[in-house]
Amino acid sequence: MADKKRLTQLKKTLEARRAELLRSLAETQQTSRTVQQTYGIDEGDRANISHDKDILLRLSAHERTIVEGIDAALARIRDGSYGECLNCGQEINAKRLEALPWSRYCITCQELIEEAR
Ligand SMILES: [Zn+2]
Repeated sequence: MADKKRLTQLKKTLEARRAELLRSLAETQQTSRTVQQTYGIDEGDRANISHDKDILLRLSAHERTIVEGIDAALARIRDGSYGECLNCGQEINAKRLEALPWSRYCITCQELIEEAR
């Protein structure tokens, strides 16, 4: 992963993705507020409303996790450890990084972590 040109390109991709996510996060928060304002005073179907809010909250939590992952990946690009698995130190498969550039773990460790959940 010492290819500087590739890392610079990757950095750009990650930063663009990050900006995009932050924009959609802001939009989600906006929608969430609108939902509250629309249904807040009304004595409507509270179950449905809280379900809607649930989805919005989960969605933004998921996006937040990705933004954090991107930040961590950018930090690893800076300190030169990008592409190494945080668990075992092996290089993460290039195809995996292409699909998920903010991957913290190699596929083996990721599976172990998911199984342990
Ligand atoms: Zn690993």
